[in-house]
Amino acid sequence: MKILVINCGSSSLKYQLIDMENENVLAKGLCERIGIAGSKLTHKPAGKGEFVIEKEMPDHKVAVQLVLDALQDAEHGVIASKDDISAIGHRVLHAGTVYSDSIVVNEDVKRVIRECFPLGPLHNPANLIGIEACEHAMPGKPNVAVFDTAFGMSMPEKACMYAIPHEYYEKYGIRRYGFHGTSHKFVSGEAIKFAGLDPETAKVIVCHLGNGASISASIGGKCVDTSMGLTPLEGLIMGTRSGDVDPAVVQFICNHENISVDEMLDILNKKSGILGMTGISSDFRDVEKAKEEGNHLAEVALDAFRYRVIKYVGAYIAAMNGVDAIAFTAGVGENDADTRKEVCDSLTYAGVKIDEEANNVRGKATMISAPDSKVKVMLMPTNEELAIARETLALV
Ligand code: AMP
Repeated sequence: MKILVINCGSSSLKYQLIDMENENVLAKGLCERIGIAGSKLTHKPAGKGEFVIEKEMPDHKVAVQLVLDALQDAEHGVIASKDDISAIGHRVLHAGTVYSDSIVVNEDVKRVIRECFPLGPLHNPANLIGIEACEHAMPGKPNVAVFDTAFGMSMPEKACMYAIPHEYYEKYGIRRYGFHGTSHKFVSGEAIKFAGLDPETAKVIVCHLGNGASISASIGGKCVDTSMGLTPLEGLIMGTRSGDVDPAVVQFICNHENISVDEMLDILNKKSGILGMTGISSDFRDVEKAKEEGNHLAEVALDAFRYRVIKYVGAYIAAMNGVDAIAFTAGVGENDADTRKEVCDSLTYAGVKIDEEANNVRGKATMISAPDSKVKVMLMPTNEELAIARETLALV
């Protein structure tokens, strides 16, 4: 069975076609600048070179059609007909409090995605457009919505409720939801298998450290806490996002700079994090280079990033009264041995002991804790597309 995985942004569409017999990626690609002049599709069939199609894509319907054409192309294609695609799995940001699992799309599901536009204004509209474009291009094929918020729905009330008047939860669903859920669920599941832990009871912390960064704590595969909140702004310091700040900072800067709350939120989302702290870049590699060259702000930003990871991991060890496994994933988590080492060196109180040689690795599932470490620590690459494909397969 072949499953097409779609991740739609407002002007982009990422895709992968996965053969579920062996979980091999047959082809993947990206449509950019949808609805903007100069759109292009970059299509990469497995084992062959990249193939770029520069063609106007006024909307996502046209983009989906171009993707299907590329997949069936005589030269660059990987399937004979779109009928070879059994189902489509879509990454969808927000399901509010309605869905705690993936679901086959019907009119009700689309209504919920639409009702959650205010909670995910940048992503949910694009996600729905992607679903409708696939319905149009492949009528009758099942579409499955895989929600980024689903994993966080098992958080107990003590972890997900904000200490603000309850009426805002009742009126607007203001609570902590958590994001990167597909990645946290996938990586925690793989970590349990990799470490040979009991899937019913294992206490696992996943550090998803990328441009967006979040940490989750789960017991027996169920999320009990996670660092992102109502939106993906809360929690860790990220590439451009501040993570936790005192809300009074917003009021102070708005008043003194004479800007609106919306403008301030834009600053916290897009101009803060390690970019804002250093003025150099949102890319961790650039900031690491600047630190090596003696830039003090770069050193502070990286220290602060790692310090906050250490604090969250410590909080989650306390919340779960222990931890069996800690998994590092995403761009920084999979590639940056220094960050992993510094975090682990601050967790010796919990019985974490890192094997420095094993830690000197990138991008592949590796146990990086010493054999006598009480806690299994590992590098576990995330694969959100495969996770979406597996969820889709399970439902169809
Ligand atoms: P992601 O959002 O998961 O794609 O992660 C992107 C981030 O990972 C970027 O900020 C990269 O700088 C960072 N990254 C990739 N490789 C490394 C590395 N070797 N050391 C530090 N950061 C890295």
